[in-house]
Amino acid sequence: MINKKITFDEIFRIKSEDLSSADRQACEQFLSHGQGLSSPYLHRLQQVFTEQMRHKLGSSLEEIPTDFLERRVQRLMRTFLNEKLGRSKPPQPRLDLAILAGWDPHSHGRALFTQHFPEARALLPDFEAAYAYLKPLVKSLGEKEPEIIKKMMEEDSFAQVTEVGGTYDKWQYEHQGKRIIPLQAYGRTKGSHLRDDIKGYDYCGQESEVVYQSAETFLKSIKEGQMGRIHMGETLLPEKGKDHITKLLDEADTYYRSSKPLRIGHGTHISFDDMQRVVDKGYYVESCLSSNKKTGIIGKRSEYPLGLMLLLGVKVVIGTDGGPLYSTSLGAEYAYAVRSLDKFCRLLSDSEDFIALQNGDPLRFRHVSHLLREKTPIMAADAPLTYRQLNESLKDDIKKRISPDQLVKNAQDLFNECYSGLN
Ligand SMILES: [Zn+2]
Repeated sequence: MINKKITFDEIFRIKSEDLSSADRQACEQFLSHGQGLSSPYLHRLQQVFTEQMRHKLGSSLEEIPTDFLERRVQRLMRTFLNEKLGRSKPPQPRLDLAILAGWDPHSHGRALFTQHFPEARALLPDFEAAYAYLKPLVKSLGEKEPEIIKKMMEEDSFAQVTEVGGTYDKWQYEHQGKRIIPLQAYGRTKGSHLRDDIKGYDYCGQESEVVYQSAETFLKSIKEGQMGRIHMGETLLPEKGKDHITKLLDEADTYYRSSKPLRIGHGTHISFDDMQRVVDKGYYVESCLSSNKKTGIIGKRSEYPLGLMLLLGVKVVIGTDGGPLYSTSLGAEYAYAVRSLDKFCRLLSDSEDFIALQNGDPLRFRHVSHLLREKTPIMAADAPLTYRQLNESLKDDIKKRISPDQLVKNAQDLFNECYSGLN
């Protein structure tokens, strides 16, 4: 097994290489028929993605079936090549998002600087590598940092920043009469009205592919009236992410004392049982579809259980995770979400398959019994359900939950939670 550590230089070189006509043809072939991996360019590209994924998996590499890694690498290559060959176009936004005024609930400050250092994108799927690469570069901007952020705000290419830790004190500055502190989450509404009063704290970059990292200290640090967000369930291995969220919720039961809802960043591999716990607690889940796809956490955006979460009543919201880094925008993410929900609705109406998550967790009768029509025949609590069975038994008002409008409403509610207390 190759265990070579690849350098940034190698990644940049291979990914930014101009394609010879033979290589281009091989890429087209690969995209259309899944063939052509023998081309030297594709072969090296495959190695780069494989090594990045192996690096990310660390010692849990041994736990995964080889074909899982191969399939995920092929997906990542497809995504990358579709962009490189100019074949990928985000779907047309079909939603009116004016009411959100560009508020992106899940976006990281560092990713903003990708606009100035676009080569950082080449380091995906390893976002940690991308951030490590950006760190010294952003530092090198020195006094220009706040200037750049200000400029982005004026150009309206900037809606919100969240960061934790770090030393961003020097970023404090006045903008149109408001004091801006990027260390804490803040946002803006349309026009010049900036808000800097969110009492929010973010904890990210701690989730490991190998072992659960306790959130106890972070959860205890959130005082009454403050909001905490923690990234969890964003693992390559679905079973790991599932387990991490269960452990996080157990810890939150004991240590999270604020009456404000907890925000779970990503939550990609959450189980059905934990979706129910999240609903009971009123917690939010922040879904970043393109980010998850581009970092290999899911193979396709539709693998994120957006429709199922909405159906069960999870307050799920859409974010970009840092639009520029993932070559996306809030509008595009909502358009992808709409497409994903459409797909889910099609499955509901015509699929005889049993409903299950990527982590293998099946939807059971007990998860949805309270959402079904009265005349639905009673099944055993643990009986799995097919899409069609579920569809035929759902109450009409419950079906309405699977709607993009619900996503927008959730984002509005989260915004209000974040900003309540504003005088
Ligand atoms: Zn994030």
